[in-house]
Amino acid sequence: MIKEKSGPKMPKAVYVYKLRKSVPLLGDADRASLTDMLRGRVASVIEYHRKTGCSLEKARRLEPIGQAALTNYHKITGATLEHPDEIWCTRRSDFDSLCPQCSKPFRTAEANLCAECGFTLPLGEVAGPL
Ligand SMILES: [Zn+2]
Repeated sequence: MIKEKSGPKMPKAVYVYKLRKSVPLLGDADRASLTDMLRGRVASVIEYHRKTGCSLEKARRLEPIGQAALTNYHKITGATLEHPDEIWCTRRSDFDSLCPQCSKPFRTAEANLCAECGFTLPLGEVAGPL
């Protein structure tokens, strides 16, 4: 695990719209170490598919490189993801600050309206980065 700066007010898990659930986010270095693993797994998916005869979708979920990436994500965060592709959605720097009303991230750093609950920031304020 690579130590990164994180403030004491950093939430443990943040709602990720693409995953429709809250998960711990990763700093750029931790996330890059996992996505570097995932980039080289096409051959592993095909080999797993051929060896087991399972569907390609099942092979994408169960082949060993993706499983190793999920294990490393668990070691870093203490949380478990269901599919290796979910790791692509966990980069902290991709998220904007959290809505004070519903605690879900604003959709963009320039937003002043929460698309989830309709909360509006005071005139002239924008969400900003997480
Ligand atoms: Zn909201």
